[in-house]
Amino acid sequence: MPTIVNPIGVELDETARRMRIRWDDGHLGEWSWLSLRRACPCALCAGEGNLPGVVTLDTAFSERETHMNEVRWIGRYALAPIWADGHDTGLFTYSKLRDMCECAEHATPDR
Ligand SMILES: [Zn+2]
Ligand SMILES: [Zn+2]
Repeated sequence: MPTIVNPIGVELDETARRMRIRWDDGHLGEWSWLSLRRACPCALCAGEGNLPGVVTLDTAFSERETHMNEVRWIGRYALAPIWADGHDTGLFTYSKLRDMCECAEHATPDR
């Protein structure tokens, strides 16, 4: 069984434009809003089945599209950012967030 970690608290940093989550194993994860919007896993952005998504590595986002208004909790396994342009269908599971963590400890330099 993989260890299940849960968020204790979430913070949206409007100045740095980053989201931070404190996990119950003590880790403080953080992600830039831009990275999260680019990684949006919804069917429209990421594609589904044979259909490609609208978001690629070259997609340029507007300020509103990368501004996170708030976070909606989905059950006990995921959260959905609510973006300033109204987009809110991307569900980030906790394990996906952990995998793409951008804190100093986990960030990869070429990203
Ligand atoms: Zn999306
Ligand atoms: Zn981390």
